[in-house]
Amino acid sequence: MMARIEIREEVCTGCGICVPACPFAAIEINEKNVAVVLDGCTLCGACEEACPFKAILIRRDREALVDLSSYNGVLVVAEQRNGIVDHSTFELLGAARNLTEIDNSPVSVLLITGDSGEWPDKLIKHGADIVLVASDPALSHYLTEPYSAILNTVINEKKPAVVLAAATTTGRDIMPRVAKSINTGLTADCTELAIDGDTGLLLQTRPAFGGNIMATILCERTRPQMSTVRPRVMKALESDSSRKGKVEILEIKPEFLVSRTRLLEFHPLDEGEVDITESEIIVSGGRGIKSTENFRMLEELADLLDGTVGASRAAVDSGWIPYPHQVGQTGKTVQPKIYIACGISGAVQHRVGMQSSDTIYAINKDPEAPIHQISSASFIADLFELIPELVKEIKRRRGAN
Ligand code: FAD
Repeated sequence: MMARIEIREEVCTGCGICVPACPFAAIEINEKNVAVVLDGCTLCGACEEACPFKAILIRRDREALVDLSSYNGVLVVAEQRNGIVDHSTFELLGAARNLTEIDNSPVSVLLITGDSGEWPDKLIKHGADIVLVASDPALSHYLTEPYSAILNTVINEKKPAVVLAAATTTGRDIMPRVAKSINTGLTADCTELAIDGDTGLLLQTRPAFGGNIMATILCERTRPQMSTVRPRVMKALESDSSRKGKVEILEIKPEFLVSRTRLLEFHPLDEGEVDITESEIIVSGGRGIKSTENFRMLEELADLLDGTVGASRAAVDSGWIPYPHQVGQTGKTVQPKIYIACGISGAVQHRVGMQSSDTIYAINKDPEAPIHQISSASFIADLFELIPELVKEIKRRRGAN
């Protein structure tokens, strides 16, 4: 939001009440006996409030210009890599459908790609009413400037009330850039979204102050309301082949393709490197595991279940397992079918990364550990007794089969 301060000289009496009111010592009375603003003004409005003569005005230009009622519906920014639309896009479509339930406004998705293929149809089946396709070979891979220029244009033309992108490296790059250029707010890394039934505002909830509180943030005066959303937190809808929608092909103007950067090469993860976010079963270990050697026990269980091993930050910080395995606020967000938390207390910073798992099993000898509050089944037990028994039993049954 653009703002500026205005001193109405014809009204100012030079009383000086504004001078001590300013916490930044950024206002004084000049030789003509009127208030003047100095460097250091943050436009906080303290002087405006203090002035008994209404001689000081903070002009919030954008606020005055935005007609909030002209914005409608939710726009999802799709993410594709090598032509394949990321799962996070389908999760955002699920979230968008929930948000539009009250007013039945449309859900659009913007797909910027080298070749859209069959994806528009899939996006409709997963909840989109309108698929906006910006397709050009030069748009095959994400580049900040062209993608931002297209998103910018779409927002200005279509006027969505809400814009959602995944909190991935791409979403974290494009959304702040676009939010700044259209003078609106952005809430990064949301873990919950809802619509306030009274005001219709988007309630954007995310961990704050190191994850110790959950903050709900509003964008009251500008539009659109923009959020990046943590992948694997929202639920994608099942594909519904009866769903109907519209595909709109956008014109790619030459100026959209101007870019000062170029993608030289793409390096996928090396074999052996884990991507726990793709796993359907995660066996995760915390401080209760006590050593690198003991993680082998979890690896064995994970292998038997065709899963991968995750970890709490305490285990990673102890050097028992590398960082790519970390689940949580400063690690990965996962949403597997089964999450087995072994020797993990369930601190809020861990929970935000795994609480959307379909089924959570907790193995913890402390009955008061917070992890039990979110688990589908809790085992109040010593993991060094329970896990070897579990491994033995799985092997026995497999052997029996
Ligand atoms: P603890 O809290 O020490 O819990 C260990 C548990 O093991 C205990 O509940 C205990 O009862 C149990 N236990 C011990 N021995 C046994 C046994 N033999 N059998 C069964 N149970 C046993 N944490 C993350 O995980 N991920 C993050 O991304 C993350 N990001 C953070 C970001 C910030 C800004 C901050 C401030 C913190 C972050 N943390 C994160 C740290 C988080 O606050 C916790 O400190 C951490 O999750 C604790 O890990 P833990 O549960 O393994 O260890």
